[in-house]
Amino acid sequence: MTYGELYGYGKLALEAAGVTEAALDARLLLEHICRTDRNELIVHADRERSDLEEQFYRMVIEKRAARFPLQHITGEQEFMGLSFRVNEHTLIPRQDTEILVEEAMRYLGDGMRILDMCTGSGCILLSLLRYSNECEGIGIDISGKALEVARENAGRLQLAAVFLEGDLFAPLEGADVGLFDMIVSNPPYIETAVIDTLMPEVRWHEPLGALDGGADGLYFYRKITAQAQAYMRKGAYLFLEIGCAQAQAVAALMQEAGFEKIEVLKDYAGLDRVVYGMKAAE
Ligand code: GLN
Repeated sequence: MTYGELYGYGKLALEAAGVTEAALDARLLLEHICRTDRNELIVHADRERSDLEEQFYRMVIEKRAARFPLQHITGEQEFMGLSFRVNEHTLIPRQDTEILVEEAMRYLGDGMRILDMCTGSGCILLSLLRYSNECEGIGIDISGKALEVARENAGRLQLAAVFLEGDLFAPLEGADVGLFDMIVSNPPYIETAVIDTLMPEVRWHEPLGALDGGADGLYFYRKITAQAQAYMRKGAYLFLEIGCAQAQAVAALMQEAGFEKIEVLKDYAGLDRVVYGMKAAE
């Protein structure tokens, strides 16, 4: 089959399976299998491809049609201009989360110490380390399998970060790690009952443990806002990604815990996405 015919087949198969971005995904998977770029379809659509490439392409199209996320097939996702490895043990980095990283960077100085709670693939922590100087980073996650991915990402990006396995702040208890200048977190925040209504890609293939925020979605925010200050220096900032309807509730939790200068930020879609605040300086 020619390149163009393969693309046509992939696009139809993904459309039939109800994949939202059928044309885009068909093209990206074709480029992934044939190790080509967008130019190939525009300029060389009539070129014959090998039988092996056709077989592989059919295989990945079938997988995508079964609603495996594109990123689980290609094994990577770009975030903050960096390539991150992902698999079924980590949440796929979302573009919405870049807003948290960009805002946190405004408060990040050289040599600061950063804690990323529920680090997953490590994308938030590693981006902050990549775009700052001499900062130190610790990432915590309850999933050892996720931390394997985070460590691989640190290696690929040639960044030094420490990853600790455990439940929220538990790995830091009694450890002589000092205080942090910044804590960032994108914890699980979907209400348990809502998870069944998410897209198949998310609810079938992304780790439930990275999504489920308990009955009201606020379980992790309660824990983090209540415990974080014990690990923060005065004047340090806590940045939390939130679900778009959680700004008020999370800001209230931060206020209750004594945080100051609390702000809510919107994502590129105009939805509330980040709440942050400062540990009192005095
Ligand atoms: N933003 C993710 C989603 O909508 C959820 C991320 C999370 O729970 N932290 O699927």
